[in-house]
Amino acid sequence: MINQTMTLLGKKRSVIRDIFEYANKRRAQIGAENVFDFSLGNPNVPAPADVNAAIRELLDTEDDAALHGYTSAQGAAPVRKAIADDLNRRFGTAFHADNLYMTCGAAASLKIILIALSSEGDEVIVFTPFFPEYSVFVTTAGMKLVQVPSDELSFQIDFDKLASAITPSTKAVIVNSPNNPSGVVYTAETVQKLAALLTQREKEYGHAIYLISDEPYRELVYDGIEVPYLTKYYTDTVVCYSYSKSLSLPGERIGYILVPDEVCESADLYAAVCGAGRALGYVCAPSMMQQVVAKTTGQVADLNVYKGNRDLIYNALTDYGFTCIHPDGAFYLFVKSPEPDATAFYEKAKEFDLMLVPADSFGTPGFVRIAYCVSTDMIRRSLPAFLKLAKSYGLC
Ligand code: PLP
Repeated sequence: MINQTMTLLGKKRSVIRDIFEYANKRRAQIGAENVFDFSLGNPNVPAPADVNAAIRELLDTEDDAALHGYTSAQGAAPVRKAIADDLNRRFGTAFHADNLYMTCGAAASLKIILIALSSEGDEVIVFTPFFPEYSVFVTTAGMKLVQVPSDELSFQIDFDKLASAITPSTKAVIVNSPNNPSGVVYTAETVQKLAALLTQREKEYGHAIYLISDEPYRELVYDGIEVPYLTKYYTDTVVCYSYSKSLSLPGERIGYILVPDEVCESADLYAAVCGAGRALGYVCAPSMMQQVVAKTTGQVADLNVYKGNRDLIYNALTDYGFTCIHPDGAFYLFVKSPEPDATAFYEKAKEFDLMLVPADSFGTPGFVRIAYCVSTDMIRRSLPAFLKLAKSYGLC
């Protein structure tokens, strides 16, 4: 018999997929320029010019076998060293090449680290709203997903709720700041409190509770907001990073896992990461992309575009009477549905050819997500439709 869990996962269409199909249908019916699709987190800002220049240079100068051949399973050592050096420069850390394992992006990083950590009966805490794939990654690693609601107003961590969710079975806590879908960035105060609570529980239970920092949006922050570097606050932190959003390279599938020397059983955990990569068949992230990210360390796609989009859509929607969480980072706007059922709101928005994502699958019913990593022109053209939507609810 075929694996039933996988069959179901393969057959179950995500809401975003449904919206995508519907948007395509509408584009064919009324013209692409009249459909306002805010469903996908696919960056529309081009990769920095140096990324394409690095690819060209590699093609012109590197030996084919070296450029397209296998690297070591955990990634080429000079690449990992270049990334470690860059992190040390930016965050005052002391990482080295063997703290890093190159992956096909954050999704692969998360899956590998969860497999590497999992034992029977383990629980993994996530904060709502959360990236829906966490549920897939955690449960298919044989662990239980424990959802902890964030503070209703600030969307920072609700520490009373977290304190009662942590149990002796808690193996890991996943944080994602800047957050998909809320755009919220955890403050240093939140991070300090989180570190204190986890440290206290580690002592009480006599085992490690790993903090998994999923940070594909780390560099996507506005107005000079700082994103605390979590390994500096909490010893048992591992980082899952991706270049998908920071360098606008989601299709190139490149990222890494960072296992610092200080984490509990660091050598064994790194070995388990290598083992999980092997078991999943994920060894050797794309060779050319490894070299590209090593050559362009510290670079970021043009944030001014996202900031302009953020200001445009946040200001307009709040003016029209919608309640929105102010996004300090990432490229999503989290909007409270004017009626309790966010799916009904999403259906209503479709009548104005606005494609929004109801947030039920993010664990926070009553909200929709707007991905503003789209053209500024499309946002401008969509505003009359948002105004009509607001008026249909009597918001203005
Ligand atoms: N984690 C979060 C919070 C995301 O939003 C995404 C993608 O949108 C991922 C992980 C996966 O990213 P990647 O493309 O690097 O696999």
